[in-house]
Amino acid sequence: MVFKHDVLIVGAGLAGLRAATEVAGKADVALFSKVYPTRSHSGAAQGGIAAALQNEEPDSWEWHMYDTIKGGDYLTDQDVAEILAKDAIRAVYELEHMGVPFNRTPEGKIAQRFFGGHTSNFGQAPVKRICYAADRSGRVMMDTLYFQAVKKGIKIYPEFHVLDLVIRDGQVAGLVAYELATGEVHFFQGRAVLIATGGYGKVYKVTSNAFASTGDGLALTYRQGLPLEDMEFVQFHPTGIWGLGVLITEAARGEGGILRNSEGERFMERYAPTIKDLAPRDMVSRAIFTEIREGRGINGQDYVYLDLTHLGEEKLAERLSDISSFVKIYLGLDPARDQIPIHPTCHYMMGGIPVNNDGNVTDMKNNPVPGLYAAGECSCISLHGANRLGCNSLLDLVVFGRRAGQHILENLDRLSWVDPPSGPERDTAERIRRIKEKRKGEKSVSIRQSLQEIMTADCSVFRHEQGLKKALEAVRELEQRARNICIDNLGNRYNTDLMDALELQNMLPLAEAIAASALNRTESRGAHSREDYPGRDDEHWLKHTLVQKTGPGLSISGKPVTVTRFEPKPRAY
Ligand SMILES: Cc1cc2nc3c(=O)[nH]c(=O)nc-3n(C[C@H](O)[C@H](O)[C@H](O)COP(=O)(O)OP(=O)(O)OC[C@H]3O[C@@H](n4cnc5c(N)ncnc54)[C@H](O)[C@@H]3O)c2cc1C
Repeated sequence: MVFKHDVLIVGAGLAGLRAATEVAGKADVALFSKVYPTRSHSGAAQGGIAAALQNEEPDSWEWHMYDTIKGGDYLTDQDVAEILAKDAIRAVYELEHMGVPFNRTPEGKIAQRFFGGHTSNFGQAPVKRICYAADRSGRVMMDTLYFQAVKKGIKIYPEFHVLDLVIRDGQVAGLVAYELATGEVHFFQGRAVLIATGGYGKVYKVTSNAFASTGDGLALTYRQGLPLEDMEFVQFHPTGIWGLGVLITEAARGEGGILRNSEGERFMERYAPTIKDLAPRDMVSRAIFTEIREGRGINGQDYVYLDLTHLGEEKLAERLSDISSFVKIYLGLDPARDQIPIHPTCHYMMGGIPVNNDGNVTDMKNNPVPGLYAAGECSCISLHGANRLGCNSLLDLVVFGRRAGQHILENLDRLSWVDPPSGPERDTAERIRRIKEKRKGEKSVSIRQSLQEIMTADCSVFRHEQGLKKALEAVRELEQRARNICIDNLGNRYNTDLMDALELQNMLPLAEAIAASALNRTESRGAHSREDYPGRDDEHWLKHTLVQKTGPGLSISGKPVTVTRFEPKPRAY
C-alpha cells in the first residue's frame, strides 16, 4: 500500500510541530516520530526561550542579535541572527496566545530572567531576556504545540522510525518508515519532506540528550550525497550532574547560582570578569576543565561545585523545582543545603544539514534541493555559529520551523509528485533482513560504547591533532566492525535491538564527520578549541565547513560567513 501526503515531516519535537501547524489546513501534512511524539527531547528543555520583550528591564533586538553573533564567535550568519532576534518578540507572544503558561511578573506580564551570554548594551552587563515556565519551559511548549497539532487534525504517525529518504533526479519523492508496533516497512509519497529529527548527543558517553538523539535525519541526507555543515562545533553544557550528564539548567546560574572549585573560589571571576558565571557555555566549560586539570577539582576528582545554597528554599521551589528534585533523586543531596557536583555534558550540536534562510536544504554548491527541508537542531542555518547561546534553540525551533512551513506552502504548487523507483521500500527491508539473518557477529552495544568513549576522550572540549587523528582512525575501524552487527531479537514487535543497530549505523558516519571537520579546522573558535592552535584565525577560518561523503572517503570545503553589521572582534566577557 502506498501512503500519500503533500508534506511529510520527520520529527515531532518543537521544530516539526511548529512547521506542521503552519502547513495544516492549507495542505495535507503528516508528522512522523520514532518515539511517542510528546516524549521528543524538546520536552526536556528547562531554562526557557529568549526574546527582547523588555518586560523586566530595557532591552533591544539589536543587543540580542549582537549577543547571538558574539556568542557564536562570529561564525554566525548575521542576516539569520537578525531574523531571529527581530521575530523573537512575535514568536513568544504567539506561544502565549496558543496557551503556553509562562511565569509572570507581579503586574501580570511574561516574567524574564538572566542567562549566559545575554547582555544589555552590546556586552555591558547581563540582561533579563529569557521567558520561562519554572524549569520546565520545553515541557509546557511541547504540550501546547502538540495540542494545537491535534486540534488542527494533523495526521500523526507515532512510533514510526524513518529509515530512508527517497530522492529521484534531484527531487524528493518521499520516505520509507518502519512501524515499530508491527515491524512493517512502508513507503510514504510526498511532495515535500521536512527533517526535524533533533540532535545527536548520543555520539558521546556523557550527554544531557535523550536516548533518541542519534542524528538519524543527518544520516538520511548525508547518505544521499548531500553535505553536512560545521560538524566540528559540539556544545558541552557546563553543568551536567557529575558522572550522569543529567542537565542542571543554566537558569540555576541565571537565578544567582555560583561555580566553585576545591578552594571554594568563584573561579569564573578570573575567566570572564564582566559577566562571570553567566559567560557563554564554551568559555565556562573550558574554565571547568582547566580548573580540574590544574588540580582544583573537588577532592582531587574531575568535578567542581555548583552552589545554589544561598538562593533559599522558596526560590528553588518556585523557579528551579525540577532540577532540585533531580538532585535529590540522583544524588540524595538537597540543593538548599548542599553544593552540587557538576561536570560538562555533551548538550547541543551547532552543526547539521545545511539550509538556506527558508529552511530549504542546500547542496555542496549551495543550491536548494527542490522539496527537501530541515529545521531545528538537526539543521544548520548558521545561526548559532561556533557556540549557541542558551535559550536561542527553542527560539530557533519556533521561528525557523514556522518559516520552513511557510516556504513549503508557497512552493507546493511548483512541487510535483515524483514517482519513486519501483518498490522504494525494498532496499530498506533488505537492509533489515541482512541484520536479522546474521547469526554470528558483534552486538551493537559494544560498538556504541567504544564510539562514545573515543569521542569523549579525543573529540570533546579540548582537542589536538594527534587525538583527532586517533579518533578518526578508531571511528573508521568501528564503521567496518558495524557491518558485521548481529542482533538477538528477531521479532517484529517493538524490536529495540534492531533499532539500536540501525541508529548506530547512523551515528558512526556523523562521528567521522565531526572528527574530520575538527581535524581540518586549525584554529580555535567557540566550542572548537584546538590546544595546538589556540587562537582564532579570521584570515583563514572565517568560513563554514562543508563535509561530504565521497565513496569510502570524505571531501571537505568551505562556505563564506555572512557579515552584515558587526565586524569580527576579539571575544571577551
Ligand atoms: C536537557 C535539555 C535541556 C534543554 N534546555 C533548553 C532550553 O531551556 N532552552 C533552549 O533554547 N534550548 C534548550 N535545549 C536545546 C533544545 O531543547 C533542543 O535543541 C531542541 O528541543 C531540539 O528540538 P527539535 O525539534 O529539533 O528536536 P527534538 O525535540 O529532539 O525532536 C526530535 C524528533 O525527531 C524524531 N525522530 C528522530 N529520528 C527519527 C527517525 N529516524 N524517524 C522518525 N522520527 C525521528 C523524534 O522522535 C522526535 O520527535 C535543551 C536540550 C536538552 C537536551
